[in-house]
Amino acid sequence: MKSYDAIVIGIGGIGSAALYHLALRGLRVLGIDRFPPGHDRGSSHGQTRVIRKAYFEHPGYVPLMQRAYELWSSLDAVSPTPLFHPCGLLEVGPPDGLLIRGVREAARRFALPLEELTPRQVEARFPGFRIPDGSASVYEPQGGYLMVEACVRRFVNLATQHSAELAVGSPVQSWQSDGKQVIVHCGDQVYRARRLVVASGAWAGQLLADLNIEFRLLRKHLHWYRTHAASDYLPTAGSPVFFYHTPDGYYYGFPSLDGRSLKVAEHSGGSSMSDPLNPDQSVDIEERRRVENFLQRHLSRVRLDVVHHSVCMYTMTADEHFIVDRHPRYDNVCFAAGLSGHGFKFASVLGEILADLAEHGTTPLPIDFLSAKRFIR
Ligand SMILES: Cc1cc2nc3c(=O)[nH]c(=O)nc-3n(C[C@H](O)[C@H](O)[C@H](O)COP(=O)(O)OP(=O)(O)OC[C@H]3O[C@@H](n4cnc5c(N)ncnc54)[C@H](O)[C@@H]3O)c2cc1C
Repeated sequence: MKSYDAIVIGIGGIGSAALYHLALRGLRVLGIDRFPPGHDRGSSHGQTRVIRKAYFEHPGYVPLMQRAYELWSSLDAVSPTPLFHPCGLLEVGPPDGLLIRGVREAARRFALPLEELTPRQVEARFPGFRIPDGSASVYEPQGGYLMVEACVRRFVNLATQHSAELAVGSPVQSWQSDGKQVIVHCGDQVYRARRLVVASGAWAGQLLADLNIEFRLLRKHLHWYRTHAASDYLPTAGSPVFFYHTPDGYYYGFPSLDGRSLKVAEHSGGSSMSDPLNPDQSVDIEERRRVENFLQRHLSRVRLDVVHHSVCMYTMTADEHFIVDRHPRYDNVCFAAGLSGHGFKFASVLGEILADLAEHGTTPLPIDFLSAKRFIR
């Protein structure tokens, strides 16, 4: 039986980062996944992810985001191909709504740069965008996007350069710990390690079943719509990532990376699903209708002509905040789970935190608000 200092189950968005941080520290580490790095069967695919600092969901995320930015930038320093694109983020919504109030509060509390823009200023600066009457608009210059599959591959490549081993195409059936050693079963392979990190995304309910925490899976859609060739939505024309709070829900999207199409999605909504291995890949007609209403009202220069569609999964906790903790019964097991559709931007720092928890049992980063205690009695 092969033996390691640490094993990481799941080398998607978060596990690949944990693998990298553990390998960087000189630990003998094995990353196990059913699918190859950068695959499209979990929650870390679809080209891009929004990254922002003025976090409206909870102020506790801002210090983590500040560290995440440092780590993304150190990752970008080792390659000429950037993972992080700081194109800025335009956020629009009712002045007293959750989004605008939360963003302003986070920016004030942590002295983050945030520009208040009138509708006229938005439309002059970003000609492809419309601001509904009575809405407020703010622009976060440090916002932008990450290239999601490239991030995962970068973490895995760097980890293997630091001697991490991979077991890809290996579904984990089960793991056991006695608090000092863990045994991981993958078909006819069995691995042993002193510590275990579980970062299994939509499969958290299966690999962390003994915690009895309810994770709700949502089927989510990404749509790419055609834009005109000389588009107002090009990053070179200064087009930002955008996030709108509307009476019909939350919608977001990215600049046109290929000059021909633009990715847009609904953050709210989503249909419940149960089997993460076999999500229904079909289009949700009602959801597409809402997205197209959104585009017609707010990004009128996008053509309602879909060029690509993809399905992805959110793994929701009851309060929509992550769970990042040590296992309550086994000191040598830690996990990140229930990232609730907003976790990728934190991958760099969650990797560091999981490596801290695995190596030392604790982390200097402020994660108390993400403790499993809020769900485990
Ligand atoms: C459509 C969509 C848009 C999003 N937009 C944003 C955004 O703009 N900004 C943002 O910050 N976040 C966003 N998110 C959320 C973010 O992408 C996820 O929170 C994050 O990618 C989850 O990473 P993960 O490592 O938990 O899961 P994954 O990346 O899915 O990794 C889990 C891995 O575990 C493996 N695994 C599971 N079980 C087993 C097993 N038994 N054996 C072997 N391997 C196993 C899987 O194969 C998978 O590779 C979005 C999510 C979706 C779906």
